[in-house]
Amino acid sequence: MAIIAEVVDKCRDDLEARRYFLKRSEEVPEPVTANHPMTCGNCIHFERIDHPHLGHCAKGEPEAIAGLWDTDRRYCERFLPRPQQTNNDQPRPARAET
Ligand code: SF4
Repeated sequence: MAIIAEVVDKCRDDLEARRYFLKRSEEVPEPVTANHPMTCGNCIHFERIDHPHLGHCAKGEPEAIAGLWDTDRRYCERFLPRPQQTNNDQPRPARAET
């Protein structure tokens, strides 16, 4: 609360500070959507490593130092769904043939 009061006081008294904080307010990131249906494991840009659940993003999206967990649900504008595997005579996706 002290920080908010300080910013409000600063904006009241200082036009440059008001412009600065209004500009900064436009930089607020999109809120995280809990339980979003997208997971990295279902994305074609997810590159698995030797660990059974970890991988890295081929598009360079931010990730933890160990990488991305395949089952974590997240909103991502670069998400592209991995083609579904089939059990019939349809050709399998190239990445599934390794
Ligand atoms: S593009 Fe997004 S959803 Fe796909 S692997 Fe990278 S971070 Fe995950």
